[in-house]
Amino acid sequence: MKDWYGNDARKYESIISISREICSKYGYRTIHTPIVEYTEIFQRAIGNETDVVSKEMYTFSDKGGDSLTLRPEGTAGVMRAIISESLTQNLPVRFMYYGEMFRYDRPQKGRFRQFHQLGCEYISDKSPYTDAIVIAMASEMLNALGIFDFKVVINSLGDDETREAYIKAIIKYFSRHEDELSDESKIRLKKNPLRILDSKNEKDKEICSMAPIIGDYFTKDSDTYFKKVCEAIEKYNISYEVNNFLVRGLDYYSHTAFEFKPTTGYEDSIGGGGRYDKLLEMLGGPNLSGVGFAFGIERIMLLLDDKSFKETARRVAVIPVSGKEDASAFELYRLLIASDIHCEFLHLGNIGKKMKMADKLNCELALIVGEDECSGDFVTIKYMNISDDSLKTKKINRSEVVKFVAHHMISNRS
Ligand code: AMP
Repeated sequence: MKDWYGNDARKYESIISISREICSKYGYRTIHTPIVEYTEIFQRAIGNETDVVSKEMYTFSDKGGDSLTLRPEGTAGVMRAIISESLTQNLPVRFMYYGEMFRYDRPQKGRFRQFHQLGCEYISDKSPYTDAIVIAMASEMLNALGIFDFKVVINSLGDDETREAYIKAIIKYFSRHEDELSDESKIRLKKNPLRILDSKNEKDKEICSMAPIIGDYFTKDSDTYFKKVCEAIEKYNISYEVNNFLVRGLDYYSHTAFEFKPTTGYEDSIGGGGRYDKLLEMLGGPNLSGVGFAFGIERIMLLLDDKSFKETARRVAVIPVSGKEDASAFELYRLLIASDIHCEFLHLGNIGKKMKMADKLNCELALIVGEDECSGDFVTIKYMNISDDSLKTKKINRSEVVKFVAHHMISNRS
């Protein structure tokens, strides 16, 4: 779990505001759901045999004895909110969300126990165009953040009939290799065989590489649907590839499943998503299909250049020469702030210290208020970045100072 400040905090805020603009163009509005939900919500939505639910949730009983869980992902909570707030009257329902998620996972580069996701959910009828539009919107978000070196890896998990036939085939296949499977995958074979394909165990992965592929079990409808999604994606300039083993680690997906993978440097996915046909209904809502995705914000931050997120706001400092001028300097500070000028009131230490601090805080101007300034009703302005001594200072009438500083801030001088 990390503290964010400086560049990290600025990166997070930029990611949210840039993404929000794009989501808004596509008709999405923000939803904020609680960080905790009843544990059952995640068990029902994500599935008991997934790694997330079986190993990674922060679950606790509250004082009333209810089992609560810190959200490990955003979709389940958004669906719960859509149902409990009866938000399906006007379709499509389109929400974006962002915030903290919690998984008790092994920490490593780009993997944290408290991390942040930004996700979008689209609820309506099922259409392959919507899947493609959602993928295009997510790609546009990455582009807008300056990320171009990624590809979309896509698969289809087909409809119920497809998955039933496929699951039968993989049970048969994995049963032949049962002795070689990890203990965990042996249990998955009994409870949720599809999840074996998510295994991170090396031997399991080797066995999985020879397993039957879902594409061979598509019903005609599933096949047509997937082809239409791919055709629609091709209309955009998006680099994508089909990977028949992409099943994603959550149980609620049907038909399209996709991930965004960086093509340089970092290997893990930046985000992923897919279509879910039954999720709303499973949680007690109407029979409507949805499609959505979530980006891992830490993963995006790893791909962003630190230099672009330096503090850029131009600032000035008001500096009383001694304690005697504090009150007069404070008055000036209040006027500048009220005029929306980014301003510091530096009143600690001697004048040398105050000037150093102004420099450290990247102030362009130091507005010095000393004894002479107070009696003569003027302010000495010192240009912090000018080395030519004759141009370094200027005396400005006190009544003109705010106008002068405001004019300086909109001009290009630094
Ligand atoms: P998921 O909800 O598992 O589909 O994950 C969606 C995205 O969230 C992943 O592609 C990652 O970018 C990010 N993510 C998932 N787990 C973590 C974690 N423990 N730490 C940081 N990012 C994560």
